[in-house]
Amino acid sequence: MRITALRTTDVRVPLNTPAKWSGGTRLTAPAILVEIDTDEGITGLGECVGPTIPTLHAILEREFAPFLIGADPLRHELLLHRLDEFAVNWAGIARYAIAGIDIALWDLKAKALGTSVCNLLGGVYRDTVEFMGYLFIDRPETNAAQARRYVDEGYHTLKVKVGRDIEEDARRLQTIRDAVGWDVALRIDANMAWSRSTALRAIQRLSEFKLQYVEQPIPDTDIDGLAWLSRTVNVPIAADEACTSLQSALELISRRACEVLILMVSEAGGLTRARDIVHLADAAGIHVVLGTWAELGVGTIAGAHLIAASRNFTLASDTHYSMQDDDVLTEMLPLKGGRLPLPLDRPGLGVELDPARVEHYHRLEARDSVFYDPDNPAFIPRTGVILP
Ligand SMILES: [Mg+2]
Repeated sequence: MRITALRTTDVRVPLNTPAKWSGGTRLTAPAILVEIDTDEGITGLGECVGPTIPTLHAILEREFAPFLIGADPLRHELLLHRLDEFAVNWAGIARYAIAGIDIALWDLKAKALGTSVCNLLGGVYRDTVEFMGYLFIDRPETNAAQARRYVDEGYHTLKVKVGRDIEEDARRLQTIRDAVGWDVALRIDANMAWSRSTALRAIQRLSEFKLQYVEQPIPDTDIDGLAWLSRTVNVPIAADEACTSLQSALELISRRACEVLILMVSEAGGLTRARDIVHLADAAGIHVVLGTWAELGVGTIAGAHLIAASRNFTLASDTHYSMQDDDVLTEMLPLKGGRLPLPLDRPGLGVELDPARVEHYHRLEARDSVFYDPDNPAFIPRTGVILP
């Protein structure tokens, strides 16, 4: 089998709620759909998400496509190795592009073998994957009402963005706890907003709300600080922005900087490298949670196949998918009450693009950056802040 074409389509699906976090506000879910065609008529489907879609588009089309055309798609590790080495000096951004190719290669291989991606990644450890309900920075009553809706629908885990104001965060968490009680798992994410001393003070203040973990309280570069916080506070510390690759995961683990790794298929460079991180963490007794870049249906189901095949996803993973009212697929993923059953009776990832929807969302071209606040253009995000 030979690869005959790499096709890319930029799409952008609106979110039904603005997603305000410590460093900006997200309004849409932009992605690049990646299709790898072969001379045997099998097409692999993948998805790229990441910080800059136009750059990823250029990398895929101009830099990576020549390595793929004419190659045997089943020589997966060799192809990844060639892309890794070609991009060795710009590996951070390259991994987001490689991720879309890697997902498409898994889909293609599973279709060629007539089985699901989950079966190739390790087999079905669980046939339904659990996700959390996402709560962004908003008025306490608005957060609490949304939290109640999530729990009424069946969610067991909620994640709350924090980081701009400690007392306001405390009011929001109190109002959410008042609305949903104490049996629901509640995790918070400061997205690197705090300095070390602010993080210590904030975590001590907010720990009364029974936190499952605190995600990336301080900047990603401060691994010593994460390790110090992990030893000092009585709430588990999770590393997200600091965990971007197999090498960074290894460093976080070896320095005992966290109890939970938040990994992303996109940042890691695909399902292959994300699975490597999952196994590494498992061997070290570190839990893993899949993070989210607001993947569409293709990226979301790819992550779900990995979770379904791995024993180390002991906690609910992250998704923006419940904030999407539509998708580029023929049918939306059946995410309900925080639970997503895998389409294990279908080959590959088990999803199909809807050409009309792809065409529709391909037209939504307006620029949208998650690191910017359209409600307050003067807002300048900064990490590691000393808050009053
Ligand atoms: Mg995070």
